[in-house]
Parts: sequence; structure tokens; C-alpha cells
Amino acid sequence: MIKRTRNEPMWLHTTFRIGGPAEYYAEPECTEEIGQLIEEARGRGIPYVVIGRGSNLLVGDGGYRGMVICLGRAFSRVTVMGNTLEAQAGAMLGAAAGCALERGLKGMEFASGIPGSVGGALVMNAGAYGSEIKDILSEAELLFPDGEIAWVPLEALDYAYRHSNIEALGRIVLRARFSLQPGERADILGLMKSYGEKRREKQPLEYPSAGSTFKRPAGHFAGQLIEEAGCKGLRVGDAQISEKHAGFLINTGQATARDVRMLVEEVQRRVFLHAGVELKPEIQFIGEFL
Ligand SMILES: Cc1cc2nc3c(=O)[nH]c(=O)nc-3n(C[C@H](O)[C@H](O)[C@H](O)COP(=O)(O)OP(=O)(O)OC[C@H]3O[C@@H](n4cnc5c(N)ncnc54)[C@H](O)[C@@H]3O)c2cc1C
Repeated sequence: MIKRTRNEPMWLHTTFRIGGPAEYYAEPECTEEIGQLIEEARGRGIPYVVIGRGSNLLVGDGGYRGMVICLGRAFSRVTVMGNTLEAQAGAMLGAAAGCALERGLKGMEFASGIPGSVGGALVMNAGAYGSEIKDILSEAELLFPDGEIAWVPLEALDYAYRHSNIEALGRIVLRARFSLQPGERADILGLMKSYGEKRREKQPLEYPSAGSTFKRPAGHFAGQLIEEAGCKGLRVGDAQISEKHAGFLINTGQATARDVRMLVEEVQRRVFLHAGVELKPEIQFIGEFL
């Protein structure tokens, strides 16, 4: 049965711990229920958005006037057949990578520390340490706006750095198949551990954030440009450019979406003045910004 609430605080559903209420919020338990919710939103004439773990989202302080559909635990099955790992959209990347490790399959180590869902990772083409989702994805099962469900091959998803065409075409990720290779469990575990250590050492994981604030501009590193423009530690309210890693914008307490947006704009302004480079947000903005 669909779990539903009205005026659901979205800060509860984002790793930033920021965001006003979603007018309608629903956690479906099966694909038919996703279709049902979309029909309902259309019937009411309101927009809808599908989210995973909210680890790349900034929801406005005014909330989302429409329906937020969250694919969570009910969509978290992961199975393995031969060298193919199949995961539902709501499965955590870490859980999928853990399953690959258990079965002695390599290729997914890079994703083990990314705190998002498989669905969000496919949309964002999440990546780390030189690998991206597109390098291991073979096909994705998508729900189309007309209700059709089909497996779509990697080549049709227009993958590029932190880009796919999945969302722009109004489609919802239901499942993904990843093509992995047999490997030694000890090596796979070793790589996952070393990536995990790097994250703990370099990233401000003790504060709520949405990961890297900006996409990496061609030929540069966003964090380095931000630091060189003198923005490390810069604050607006409780939003701050991390002292530990300038690529991260953190919520040091009660930051609002407005604080974050103003800080994002200020950093863009300063980096452009200093280096002539236009930083583009990697974080997805949804809802009403006051
Ligand atoms: C501490 C930290 C570290 C991070 N490190 C990395 C990193 O190393 N590399 C990296 O790439 N990212 C990183 N991120 C960002 C984030 O974890 C990834 O982008 C992740 O893939 C987002 O998944 P999600 O489930 O949280 O998506 P959400 O934030 O919920 O959604 C992201 C986008 O995908 C859409 N979406 C989500 N699920 C679906 C679906 N099933 N169907 C259609 N659309 C959907 C949403 O509408 C939204 O536009 C990090 C974030 C944090 C907080």
C-alpha cells in the first residue's frame, strides 16, 4: 500500500537536511502504484518529481507544490546472475556494491561510498575515482510518461559527465543491469576500503551536504578554483564552503535553502571574477525558493 502524507517536511528526505514541505508525499510499494500516483498528480493538475535518497537535492524553503514520489526500501532488491548485477531503483549504491563484493564481482567499487540510490545514480551518471555509472551500466528499465515500461540500452541514454537524458524525457528509473567482471574478493574489498578512507580523510562527512556542489569544469577542479578565489570558509547564514574541502557546501546547523542558493551564487560570482570560469551546480534544485 502507498505510504502517503501531506505537507511532508522535505528536510527529512535530503542529506542537506534542508527543505520546506512537499504538498503531497508518497512512497509507493510497486511499479503499478507509481503509475497510479502519476495518474493522480495529472488528475489534480499538479507537477510530480521522483526522488531517491535526496543526496543530490536542494529543496526550496517554500517546499514543493506538487507530489514528491520517493522510491525507497520497497524498491531495493539486488540480484546477481553470472556477471550481471540487477538492482531496483531504490537500492542504495553501497548495498549494490556490497552485493557485488559478496559475489566476487569487480567494477562497482567506485560507487560503494556514494550515498545515493541506483535510480538517482543513473540519472546523475554518478562517478568517483575515475569511474562512472555509464562504465558499468548495460541497460535500464524505465517507466515512460505514457505508462509504457521498457528496457533501454546504455547507448540510448545520452550519457556524458554527470549527465543522462533520463529525466529530461520524463522517464523514471525502475531497475538497472550492471555488467561486472569476476575478481578477487580481497582486491575488491581493499579498493572499497581505500576509497572509503580517502572520503573520510578529504570530505566533510561530519556535516550534512549534497556532495560536490558544482560540476567539474573542463580542465579545472571546482574545489581548487573555489579555494583560489578565496571562498574557503565563506558563509551565508549556516551555509558554509567547507574548510576541509572547498568543493563541498555544508549545512553547519540551521541553513536554509535561501542561504545555500545565495552562497552558490556568490561563489559562482567570485570564481568567475578570479578565473573567468563559470561554475555549474551539480546539485539539483527543486521546489519554491523564497
Ligand atoms: C557526502 C556525499 C558524497 C557524495 N559523493 C558523490 C560522488 O562521489 N560522486 C557522485 O557522482 N555523487 C556524489 N554525491 C551526490 C549523490 O550521492 C549522487 O548524485 C547520487 O547518485 C544521487 O542519488 P539519490 O538517490 O540521492 O538521488 P536524489 O538526490 O534523490 O535525486 C537526484 C536526481 O535524480 C532524480 N531521480 C532520483 N531517482 C530517480 C528515479 N528512480 N527515476 C528518475 N529520476 C530519479 C531526481 O529527481 C533528481 O533530479 C555525494 C553526496 C553526498 C551527500
